[in-house]
Formats: sequence, C-alpha cells, structure tokens
Amino acid sequence: MAENKIHFKIITPEKIVYEDDVESIIAKGVKGSFGILPGHIPFMSTLDIDTAKVLKNGKEIYFSVIGGAFQFKNNEAIILTEVAECGDDIDTVRAQLAKERAEASLNSAGNQRDVKIANAALARAMARLKAAAKQ
Ligand code: ATP
Repeated sequence: MAENKIHFKIITPEKIVYEDDVESIIAKGVKGSFGILPGHIPFMSTLDIDTAKVLKNGKEIYFSVIGGAFQFKNNEAIILTEVAECGDDIDTVRAQLAKERAEASLNSAGNQRDVKIANAALARAMARLKAAAKQ
C-alpha cells in the first residue's frame, strides 16, 4: 500500500460493505466528527448513527453507518458496525418512508422507551438520506 493512503474497511456481521485504499476518512463519533489522514496517530472512537465520507482518487464516497466502532492504526482503518450502506446502494424512497414512520411514532410515543426507539429509527433514516444525497 502506498505511504500516503489508508487501507479502509467497513464490516458488518453480514458482509464487507467497503474495502479499499483511500486518501482520507471523515466520520462522526459520539463526541463529534473527526477526520483521519495517512500518518495519523492511533485512534479509536464509538460511532454515532450518521454518515462516513472517504476520499478515493479525489472522489468523495458516502456511507450511512448505524453506530459501531472506528479504529485506526498504522494506516489501517476499520469500521465495525451492525449496519452500513454505500450511498449509491440506498433506497431513498424506503428511507423517506422510514423517516415519516419514525416521525409519526415520535408524535404518538407514550413512554421513554417508545421515544428512544423512534429516535433511533429517525436517526437511521436521516443518515441514509444524507448519505444518498452525498452530504
Ligand atoms: P426500514 O424500516 O426501512 O426497514 P430500518 O432502519 O429499520 O429501516 P435496519 O434494521 O437498520 O432498517 O436495516 C435492515 C436491513 O435493511 C439492513 O441490511 C440495511 O442495510 C437495509 N436497509 C435499511 N434501509 C435501507 C435503505 N433505505 N436502503 C437500502 N438498504 C436499507
């Protein structure tokens, strides 16, 4: 691998969503967004439900990442997560319907548990819509 690249993988229990050498990674940890360039010091973070963006040959590629963990060491980066999708693979109609369902559930939620479940569903839908819209 070239010195100025990061070998990056996104892995779920089901599949390898992405694996390639990239120039940079931006993702959202629970304490805020972070960016990684080649040569960064070792770094770990728990991930929020949001998007991750990589730069590959000067082109931006977006992913929805539904939580999980990020680790970087020796120019190797990995996201381990239950669910992730490449922006190009996202069904935006499905995500929009999921968003509307989650908003309706939030409005009718009768207790804290229902609010938490609806908020999580809303965050997943928003992450997918953001990744599909390349934001
Ligand atoms: P939905 O209510 O639409 O099923 P969800 O947030 O409950 O959304 P998840 O449980 O997070 O869905 O994901 C279940 C599976 O469906 C995963 O494999 C995920 O990658 C896929 N998936 C969910 N939403 C989409 C989407 N909008 N486009 C493509 N794949 C999706």
